[in-house]
Amino acid sequence: MGELPTKENPAQRATRVKREKSFLDLLPDIDRYAREGFTSIEKDDLEIRFRSWGLYTQGDGQGVRGSNVPLFLLRIRIPGGQLWSHQVRTIADISERYAQSTLDITDRQNAQLHYIRIEDVPTIFGKLWQAGMTSQAACGDLVRNVTTCPLAGLQHGELIDPLPFVRDVDRLMLGNPVFADLPRKFKLTITGCPSWCSLPEINDIGLTAIARRRGQGNQGWQDEVGFSLRVGGGLASRPHLARRLNVFIQTHQVLDVVQAATALFRDSDILRENRSKARLKFLFLDHGWDEERFVAELERRLGYKLAPAAPEEPPRETHRDHLGIHSQKQPGLSYAGFAVPGGRLTPGQYRDLANLADAYGDGNLRQTVQQNIIITGLQTDRLPAFETAAAATGLSLAPSTFLRGTVACTGIQYCKFALTETKAFSTTLIADLERRLPDFAHGIKIHINGCPNSCGQHWIADIGLQGVRVKAGEETVDGYEFFLGGGVAGQADIARRVPYRTAAADVPAAVERLLLGFMGGRDEGELFQDFCRRQTPDELKALLAGVAPGAGVTEAAD
Ligand code: SF4
Repeated sequence: MGELPTKENPAQRATRVKREKSFLDLLPDIDRYAREGFTSIEKDDLEIRFRSWGLYTQGDGQGVRGSNVPLFLLRIRIPGGQLWSHQVRTIADISERYAQSTLDITDRQNAQLHYIRIEDVPTIFGKLWQAGMTSQAACGDLVRNVTTCPLAGLQHGELIDPLPFVRDVDRLMLGNPVFADLPRKFKLTITGCPSWCSLPEINDIGLTAIARRRGQGNQGWQDEVGFSLRVGGGLASRPHLARRLNVFIQTHQVLDVVQAATALFRDSDILRENRSKARLKFLFLDHGWDEERFVAELERRLGYKLAPAAPEEPPRETHRDHLGIHSQKQPGLSYAGFAVPGGRLTPGQYRDLANLADAYGDGNLRQTVQQNIIITGLQTDRLPAFETAAAATGLSLAPSTFLRGTVACTGIQYCKFALTETKAFSTTLIADLERRLPDFAHGIKIHINGCPNSCGQHWIADIGLQGVRVKAGEETVDGYEFFLGGGVAGQADIARRVPYRTAAADVPAAVERLLLGFMGGRDEGELFQDFCRRQTPDELKALLAGVAPGAGVTEAAD
């Protein structure tokens, strides 16, 4: 008797589907599906290949979810978050005409629309291409949108403009069949200044600019600017901060190194066995790799040795969001960073921002990984008129600490995995905390996720909230579990899960109690994260619940 065929697991299925037909050959099928309707879409295309064109099925916005809902979210890839005003208007028009006026800025500097019908996809793609944009590789098992400093080329203290590197990597990866079948998504960031606001710690590859001293013969010592390299960062349900490798990447080596590291990931067949463990970080977490082995493999692929790392001092600022009006390094010019609550805005607001960029700035807009947006090239002597005009957008240039520090993932309205609503909750939470704690001036990051997947990055927040379902009397309602004390850069750490969860409606009061406890109990100059570190989980739980430690807090049940 022959062996019974074994059922393929999700990782095997994804690999088979991608190898049977590349997503790069999918456009004629998308045209046909648009003519023949949603029910004509083949399952493998719907569930796997569509993602590589930035298309995921979504919920209907009323709680009905699953692959049968004939609607898609569409993510538009925006390298470095850089947009020209005409591109912003194009996205606003698409949003109004084809996406029920939905529009989100994502935490990878992309734009995301919802309620897209397959019938409209070819037209939308055409409009994007005409405006120099694409949704290709915004999702899927590919090199995702390359992120960078939203102030690239403009920031005081910048060591090097990272945009040319971002564009080179984007050009190298986009549509490249050599990298069209990675085990899973692969995230890259390249920063040029010492702020690291694009979060290199949670990317698969993080290149951060750094200077090293080099002897120059008779000319004495000179600085050479290059990059530090971190690899293997990622969050989801097993967070791992990227490991810094003992290498200095010279500017002419960047593309080589990115190619070699991406190929190393692509060729790691061990990562294709289990889709939930198919990220680069699992080489370190589960397969015994360390920094030395990674460098050795990288250098083998490069065919040359890399120089050793230069000493590095991670930044310590709490707010690195570039909100408000500040001067650029170009004399006489300023930029304006608008806070976008939960990353969600209307097409009208988006268009208003494009008009402001044309009327007062250089026509350039930049989306940030904190889901905010910046207008650049403002004439400093026209700032008063600009501020008056900017007020009409309804977006703040002087946000409260809660507004500027809050990030929310997509949540149950559109995400198939969500357990809770997140966007409206984030807006309510911000307003409630502003009312409860009007004088709270410490930098605090609150990140909200609708499930354990951590798209909203709760592991690196001061206060991370993970959506859960909790009992409230006879009902089951949205609730949140608390993760405290996470951070990046100089405060890089994974947040600790605190054994406390409560209904969403009670979260503002719990956060208020926690922050009052922090203000009352902190040492001179102590940051919230450091305060959390010296409390036990039970002490933090007691602060959240408003009882004495060990008093036996009653938790809402699952
Ligand atoms: Fe969806 Fe969960 Fe990601 Fe939020 S964290 S967008 S709920 S998968």
